Amino acid sequence: MCNQLTIQQVKDMLLHIADVLIQKEDELGEIDRHIGDGDHGTGMATGARAIQKELKEQESTSVNQVFRQSGIAMMESMGGASGVLFSSLFLALGKIEPEAPEIDVASFSDGVSQAVKDIKIRGRAGLGDKTMLDALEPASVALIENKNSTFVEALAAAKSAAQQGVENTKGYVAKFGRAKFLGERSLGYQDPGATSIAMIINEMYQFVKEEFK
Ligand code: ADP
Ligand code: MG
Repeated sequence: MCNQLTIQQVKDMLLHIADVLIQKEDELGEIDRHIGDGDHGTGMATGARAIQKELKEQESTSVNQVFRQSGIAMMESMGGASGVLFSSLFLALGKIEPEAPEIDVASFSDGVSQAVKDIKIRGRAGLGDKTMLDALEPASVALIENKNSTFVEALAAAKSAAQQGVENTKGYVAKFGRAKFLGERSLGYQDPGATSIAMIINEMYQFVKEEFK
């Protein structure tokens, strides 16, 4: 039924997300060039290639394991602070209990909420600081509000919230990462990390929409 994703579906979804991140390498790099050092596209593409390699080579016996394998591949290949922060999403989804061969909207939403908490602890940023959290936190709120809906409805709400979050970052002064050195000059530019998170959530939505049509 429409309300569970199997191991194979989660694998296919992550492979699809990775494809899109690889395609968007230049676009994300360009966004990071304005207020950062221009390496965000390359970083995410590196993580995406590592996810594809891992998922194509390894067997997975639970949905949790698929997310965990992806998170670890991303963290190890990207390295540094951004590797830790961006892999937090998949690592948190990999920690959902119990280990199961499918995942429902409620568990998925809990995993994303946990990721928001982990990223706040690891990076010390909050909403409005012009980081990935400005896309991920509103998306997680939308998911929790739609816990009892279908994946398509919940992810439709989440991707709209994340896109609005990216738009909002244009009005924020950066407080973390390299962009903080620009201070007020970071105004008017969207945050690269928030942009890639919104892309990931949007591609999750595009995937489930195709899968359950
Ligand atoms: P780097 O900053 O090392 O060049 P990237 O360019 O890959 O790494 O990533 C930059 C993104 O990381 C920013 O756009 C922002 O969204 C995110 N980021 C930076 N610092 C933090 C933080 N403390 N908490 C959460 N996200 C952060
Ligand atoms: Mg950068």
